[in-house]
Order: sequence, then C-alpha cells, then structure tokens
Amino acid sequence: MLRCPETHEEAFLVMSTGEMVGRMVRSGILGCPVCRREFPIMKGVVQFSAGEGAPLRDKNTQSLRGAPSPADAQTLQALLDLSGPGGYVVLVGSAARHAVGLAGLMGGIHFVGINAPPEVGELPVLSLLACETMIPLRGAVARGVVVGPERTSTAWLGEALRVLLRGRRLVIEDERVTAPAGLKQLAMGEGMWVGEKQ
Ligand SMILES: [Zn+2]
Repeated sequence: MLRCPETHEEAFLVMSTGEMVGRMVRSGILGCPVCRREFPIMKGVVQFSAGEGAPLRDKNTQSLRGAPSPADAQTLQALLDLSGPGGYVVLVGSAARHAVGLAGLMGGIHFVGINAPPEVGELPVLSLLACETMIPLRGAVARGVVVGPERTSTAWLGEALRVLLRGRRLVIEDERVTAPAGLKQLAMGEGMWVGEKQ
C-alpha cells in the first residue's frame, strides 16, 4: 500500500529489512523500482522526506498548543463508522495519538500514522511514515482517515481524501475547515468535522 512520493505512477516499493522486532521492521531500506530513490527505515519510521522536495507544511503546524482538546477514541470510532475487522485506518499528524485507544476498541484494523508526534512510537497495530510532501500511500486504500488539527491545509486534506476509499469517512479534528471537493459533509461541531468520500 506504500507508494513513492515522487510524481511518477504508483508502484510497489521493495523492502530490504535490517533489524526486526517481532513482525515490526525497526531498520531497513525501501526502494522505488521506478525512480530508484531509496527511503530509510529508522527506529521503526519510514523516512520519505530525507531532505528532498518542497515541504507541504501547514502554516499553523506550530500552533497545536491552545488547540481544542482532541476527541476521545469512542467518539472517533463512532464518527468513522467502522464495522468489522480488517483494513487500514490512516492517522495524519497528531491524530496518531489515537492509535492505541482506537485499537483497543476496534480489533483487527491496522493503523498507519503519517508524521506522528515524536512521542508516538511504532506498535504491532501502528506503522509510522514520515513525509512532508504527501501521504506516501496509494490511492483508495484506507477504511477511514483522521486528520489532526495541525494538518488541515487544503493540500493535506486533499491527500487524506485521495487515500480514502469511496463511501468511507474522513474525520478532521477541527471544525473550521474548508472541505475539499469530493467530500460530503455529514457532521460538524465540538471541534470535529466529518465527511464521506463521494
Ligand atoms: Zn519513485
């Protein structure tokens, strides 16, 4: 489900594993067979932004302090409307903090954190990717996406929508957002915005 962040077509990445802990890869290299770029896996995090590309940085990335308190896992589970195990849920930015709580409520779903805060570590149920230019996943792979309040720029929301499966939900931890086209608003309030991919 990973993709190279370069602008060429989606292609599978090839992994060379180094250190493993159980089924988790702590170190290794992912290689792109199309453009030959290589991405290191360091301390369990795939680093897609090793000093290249213009960062897709939010203007308000540093303004998390003072942001509304994040939703609890039960609320998020209800908003994501996930029934049954299997598949992937993508957590963008500080939303990766919800992985443990959501995993406790929803067994059998794997979580993928994009640009997680440093205190969030890799887990058997949580894979971590770092990339400042895009979400390095192929399109339409996620059963649900949660976007943290510091990643709500048009570009990041567009990426969140791209990786989401049609008919599935995107939850944004900020109600003051402009939703990208292709997202139908379902609910808004108490610091949350919920939409469904059309
Ligand atoms: Zn590539």
